[in-house]
Formats: sequence, C-alpha cells, structure tokens
Amino acid sequence: MSIRYVSTRGNGPELNFEDVLLAGLASDGGLYVPTSLPHFSKEDLLAMREMSYAELAYEIVAPFVGPCIAESDLRAILNDTYAEFRHPAVAPLVQLEDNQWVLELFQGPTLAFKDFALQLLGRLLDHVLDRRGEKVVIMGATSGDTGSAAIEGCKRCDNIDMFILHPHERVSDVQRRQMTTVIAPNIHNIAVQGNFDDCQAMVKASFVAEPFLPDGRRLVAVNSINWARIMAQIVYYFYSALALERIEAPISFSVPTGNFGDIFAGYLAKQMGLPVEKLVIATNRNDVLHRVLTQGTYSRLLLEPSLSPSMDITVSSNFERLLFDLAGRDGAVLSRWMDEFSNGDLTLSEPVLAQAKSLFDSHRCSDEETCEEIANVWENNSYLVDPHTAIGTKAARACQGDSSAIMVTLATAHPAKFPASIEASGIGVTADLPPHLADLFERVETYEVLPNDLADVQRYMAENCRA
Ligand SMILES: *Cc1c(COP(=O)(O)O)cnc(C)c1O
Repeated sequence: MSIRYVSTRGNGPELNFEDVLLAGLASDGGLYVPTSLPHFSKEDLLAMREMSYAELAYEIVAPFVGPCIAESDLRAILNDTYAEFRHPAVAPLVQLEDNQWVLELFQGPTLAFKDFALQLLGRLLDHVLDRRGEKVVIMGATSGDTGSAAIEGCKRCDNIDMFILHPHERVSDVQRRQMTTVIAPNIHNIAVQGNFDDCQAMVKASFVAEPFLPDGRRLVAVNSINWARIMAQIVYYFYSALALERIEAPISFSVPTGNFGDIFAGYLAKQMGLPVEKLVIATNRNDVLHRVLTQGTYSRLLLEPSLSPSMDITVSSNFERLLFDLAGRDGAVLSRWMDEFSNGDLTLSEPVLAQAKSLFDSHRCSDEETCEEIANVWENNSYLVDPHTAIGTKAARACQGDSSAIMVTLATAHPAKFPASIEASGIGVTADLPPHLADLFERVETYEVLPNDLADVQRYMAENCRA
C-alpha cells in the first residue's frame, strides 16, 4: 500500500508522489497532504541509530515516494544530495548548555536549512522528468534564502529552466550575489523594479494565467507548499534525536518559523514515532502564529520588516496543513475556515484551540531581543548565531519550563548570511563566509532588470527557455 496525497480543501484529485512533486497547489486551492504516515517503532529507531544521514533519509522518505522511484535510484539521489554538504555529519549538533543543543542546518551550499529540501527537490524533479521525457519551467519569487537554495538545487538539472524574481535593489548583497553569481545556462535571475509583493503577485498570476510558455511547457512551484520540501525536512528531526539517543526519553525542538513548513515537518516526525515532547514555534514581530496559539484568532497584520527577514510573513501558508488535521481532516470544514480567513479573521473554537496548544508552544521576539540573544549566546557559549537561530534559542529557554527533556534549536542559517544583524548586536565580531563562498564579492554577477510588468516578465521567460 503506497501513500497517496489529498488536497486539504477536499476537492482536488487524489495524486501519487510523482504528480504531487509536479503539482504545487491543488486545483481547489488547497495544499497536498499524505493520506497516511509511516510509523517507526522503538525497535525500528534502534536499528536506525548507526545510519548515515543519507541512509536514514532513505528510510524516512521511501514510504512517501512509494513505487514512483526505484530503490537504487532513490538511494543514489539521496547520497548525491547530502554529499553536497560541507560537514561529514551533514547536520551536526552543538551543545550550548546542559540540555540546550543547536542543530546546524546551514552546512549546505547556500548556508540555510532550505538546502536540505531544495537540493533533493531539484534531483527528484530531474529524475522524474527524464523518465517522462518532459521539460518544465520553475518560477519563483524570493526576498532571500529560498531563491539561492532553489538555484543551487537546480543548476545542473537538464530538464528545468529556472526564473527567480527578486525585488531590484531590495535584497541584501550577500543574498543577491548568492543567486546572481551562479552562471548556468538554465538559471535566470530577474530583478523586478518593484517590491517583494510585486514579485510574488507575478508568480501567482503566472500559475493561473493562460499558458505563456513554448510548447505547452508546465510551470512548477518550488516554494514551501511543495510537499517534497516538507518530506525532506522530517529527516533531520529523526537524525538529531537518534544522535542524542532519544528513543524513549523525550526531546523537544525550538524552530524559527515563518511559513510553518519546517515545524510542520517536526509535527509529522512526532506522529511517525519520534518521542517529541514540545514543538516551540519561535517567531519575530510578524507573530501571526504566536497570536493564533495564545489568542485563538488567526488574523493578518501588516508586514513589519525585521532583522530576521526569512521569517517576515503575514500569512503562514503551511499552517493550512495543520488546520486540516485540527478540522478532523475534513476538507469541507477546512474550506469553510479558509473562507472565513480570507474574509477577515478565523477564530478557533475552544476545543480546537486546546488541541493546538497541546501540540505547540510559542514565543515571539522583538529585534531588540534578537540582538540581545545573539550577544548572550556569544558571551555565555562563545557561539555565534544568526538572527533567526537567536530567536530559536531564546524561545527554547523561554519555553523549557521545568521539563527535563533535551531541547534542540534548529539553526536555520549561517551567521555570515546576516552580517548587519551580527554587527547590530554590538559584540564586535564578524562572521566570515565559509571557504566555498569566500570570494563571493569578487564573482561576476548576471541578472536581468525588468519593469514591474507581468507581460514583460512572461515574454522574457518564453524567449529564454532552452529548446
Ligand atoms: C525560510 C527560513 C525560515 C522559516 O522557515 P519556514 O519553513 O518558512 O517556517 C527560518 N529561518 C531561515 C534562515 C529561513 O531561510
């Protein structure tokens, strides 16, 4: 019995893994979720302790992929994916205090945790497209980390042409250069003369518009609503728990959260048999998730730029996947809730809120607290955290309570990606880029500046797809 995928809104077609990989949003506007989850017993977990990251990834991922990819191919893809990471452990753990640990998820090519999923996604797509004899176009909008991780993940994919939009002169120099210095025939960076919302609106419009690509080519999404990204992220929850020998004794995770993708993967890991005690949602001032958990109302506020830009969101798209479970996996109920939300606020009933609170803790950090925490961790532990990770370590301590469980904070980015925030913390140290990026500021950049106009962007894309 292989796992199938259904839409959270109950009206999209049921799909297998391969179709979900290519699908993005379901046709009813919902997100795809698996119909069932694999479960790992204590004995299974014991047997997985000695596995390398890629071997463990196979055990976790294979049930979700099912018969779509042959075992030997999937193993080869996973080996190749995680060989790209700089550290032999792929996701090394660092101890800060007695029961406080940090899981370094920034050892991939672009120095953020998104590499875990996007390095795999590019390879999975290319493999499936090869077999189908198809070529696709990936279009995405980025204000930072996603774009570079997607570009690095797809730069060698023969069957993919990729167009990444970023707001012209509104992303940091490090982040822009990580995208624009990747010179490959299938990678196209477009600097749009507008803001991030303009870029995102063009991507959205292109997915619902009349086809504009040559020979009916399919447009594929690589944003965090893509199921394969969530799937890839489940692995490191298992990996860190096994490394810390948490097979019976409980473990907790603090997760710097924006779109709820990463922490949703932790929620799935718990259901798949990992003894997870707490899952802490760590947010910045854009605290939509903290507000829903503390007040029971899911509501949008205006975006406020923060020192942790990769968590600057007003709506947490993957939260819909959790709401689906809270709605008893009933697509009709969930559709009603999402309608309420698009018309204003969604207020959760008492029992639903109680259930959400039993699953997650939450904590919110201001920019000032973020800087204090960077300084704190540096002074107490001689360890440099980036602003996203700092929100995680701060939330970890705030939510530890009297629990004796080990708490692992996911370090989602390398501090060298956010030099301005490190400087703002006043500790007087700078984070150096790792050797493979040390010459980033000397590299040649290529990108196309285009007006904030959908027709211009689509024409450029159509003209620049490879035959
Ligand atoms: C994307 C990102 C996040 C947020 O991840 P979600 O899955 O959207 O919750 C946190 N930190 C960094 C550095 C990121 O790039």
